[in-house]
Amino acid sequence: MSQLAEKSCVTPADAAAPIPFDNTYARMPEAFFERVKPAAVAAPKLLRVNDALARQLRIDSAFLKSPEGVAVLSGNEIAPGSDPIAQAYAGHQFGSFVPQLGDGRAVLLGEVVDAAGKRFDIQLKGSGQTRFSRRGDGRAALGPVIREYIVSEAMAALGIPTTRSLAVLLTGEQVMRERVLPGGILTRVASSHLRVGTFQYFAARGDVENLRALADYAIARHYPDVRSAGDPYLAFFDVVVAALARLSARWMLIGFIHGVLNTDNTAIAGETIDYGPCAFIDAYRPDKVFSSIDQFGRYAFENQPAAVAWNLARFAEALLPLIADGGAKAIECANASIAAFDDHFNAAYLAGMRRKLGLVREVEGDLELASDLLARMAENGADFTLTFRALCGAAADAKGDAEVRGLFANPSAFDEWAGRWRQRLSLEEQPAEMRRTDMLSVNPMFIPRNHRIEAAIRDAEAGRFETFHELVEVLAHPFDDQPKFADYAKPPRPEEEVRQTFCGT
Ligand code: AMP
Ligand code: MG
Repeated sequence: MSQLAEKSCVTPADAAAPIPFDNTYARMPEAFFERVKPAAVAAPKLLRVNDALARQLRIDSAFLKSPEGVAVLSGNEIAPGSDPIAQAYAGHQFGSFVPQLGDGRAVLLGEVVDAAGKRFDIQLKGSGQTRFSRRGDGRAALGPVIREYIVSEAMAALGIPTTRSLAVLLTGEQVMRERVLPGGILTRVASSHLRVGTFQYFAARGDVENLRALADYAIARHYPDVRSAGDPYLAFFDVVVAALARLSARWMLIGFIHGVLNTDNTAIAGETIDYGPCAFIDAYRPDKVFSSIDQFGRYAFENQPAAVAWNLARFAEALLPLIADGGAKAIECANASIAAFDDHFNAAYLAGMRRKLGLVREVEGDLELASDLLARMAENGADFTLTFRALCGAAADAKGDAEVRGLFANPSAFDEWAGRWRQRLSLEEQPAEMRRTDMLSVNPMFIPRNHRIEAAIRDAEAGRFETFHELVEVLAHPFDDQPKFADYAKPPRPEEEVRQTFCGT
């Protein structure tokens, strides 16, 4: 807490600096990180700068594109005001606890405060080895870096809380994976990189003093209102439960599969973080798994809320020494708080489903109506995104049914459902055209389809970057029809279908 308050008053950010750093985490105790410089790279080549995000962060994008800026984004130079560190954290990976993970291929350059007063981390991912690298080379291949840029920016445009991507560059070096690949570095922006695993790191060491310092820091940075609660640490836990329940509802409403929902990939700010073998569903299947490392489907689409709730239970365990002053009541209080996850999730999910279906009133049976549609979509191989998009037209005029029916292997499966939906819509007062407009604003036309991402990566690996740029630009406006780019809305042809995704780290 004190680090945040002190730093901001004592040393105001240097507004004239090309990146106006205003760091707080680097002032935490030494146990929180390793001070480490990014490793130099041979021949950095900038591929893309996110101008709109730079503007929001009060970073001069002309600087980022200059040779000096590229030197900073590649880790070859340290910008004025940057105090680079690799953060320590632990984590449960697929259910097994690893007491030390940490930034093994990432370096936090520092923090900036945006025009609205909100603080963000600026991190390089793929910037070389740190104390936390274990056996890894600290590098990132271009493919995963491009995937993270595309998907994180698409998620932001879809309105889903997420880390962002400020820039991507080629290192001019090769990295060894299953094959030799071009190296890349992503500049990632996050509300913070504090993870459930960051708390587990200190809890596992029995280091209550630093655990408390971390919790105080996180509260001051993300949830300052909880300081006035009777038990601020319990109130902190409550708000994180609520934020992550809402986040997982958003994933379920958009067809997103994170792929690796380990506690170290669960950000307490409630943002989607660490895009690895993530994917969007094409044809709807609740048990869908893409990740090559998820052999047992632990992080399958439909398991995500439960996986997040499980991670929150681990978070509660880490916070126990702080909750109820570490007394006998701590477990009881934490259990009551975890139980609230389902309520938060169900409320957010049902509200989101109502909007997707054009329902303004809250009527008993709405959830069953939505679940019935999903079951029919699953049975009939209907595309998740296109079905909801086509429903927007059908909601205004039954002539639109033809388009939805065509997405179902057996169109009459839709007809049966549509009859009940229309009956339900008849209870609504909203004019049909307004309903359609509302639905179009929550049911996107464009999502980052896996086959499009793979094509962008394939081309980028071959030195052609247009595919990547165009995809990023289309996905910046997911709710607009963009007729010129209609092909981007299409599901893969059978031969284009991506069946598996890889971490590729
Ligand atoms: P992630 O795949 O981002 O969830 O990473 C899990 C852990 O492995 C983190 O501690 C990473 O820093 C580390 N890691 C992943 N790839 C590398 C790499 N190439 N070099 C060093 N550490 C890595
Ligand atoms: Mg991770």
